[in-house]
Amino acid sequence: MNDTVPETPEPPVDPSDTRLDAKPRNQKLKYPGDMYTPQWVRYSGHIKEGYCDNCKPGKWLQLKNSAYWYHKQFFHGISSVSGKMFVPPVETRKSDAGDCTEGLCHQCRQWVTISTTKKKNSFLWFRHAHKCHVYIKPKSYVHNKRR
Ligand SMILES: [Zn+2]
Ligand SMILES: [Zn+2]
Repeated sequence: MNDTVPETPEPPVDPSDTRLDAKPRNQKLKYPGDMYTPQWVRYSGHIKEGYCDNCKPGKWLQLKNSAYWYHKQFFHGISSVSGKMFVPPVETRKSDAGDCTEGLCHQCRQWVTISTTKKKNSFLWFRHAHKCHVYIKPKSYVHNKRR
């Protein structure tokens, strides 16, 4: 297993942005292989934003109103609990009508709609995985340290 997350290069700075804390700040990840925690943040308080490096080009999303949380989980399929990709379906199949793809969930053993002709990405699967799957939060670096 590869637990290293590549370093994200510093996001571009907007020199015309004069707001306090507009310059991106580098953050430590919470545990090895953490794909959820943003490596770069900017601003503070309720307007604090995290940088999504899964987007090309990267994208700033607000942390306090769950925009970042929602985006990482349901757009990229990265669990905020495990910090890793949601577990993919054990098997996939076409629905009887042929208009959607279904996946077999390892957790509840049910067939779940992954995508339809209208919703082509895996949003529906991610939403199910978030509600259904049980993930264990990895130990953070801080707790690993012995004093
Ligand atoms: Zn993104
Ligand atoms: Zn399930």
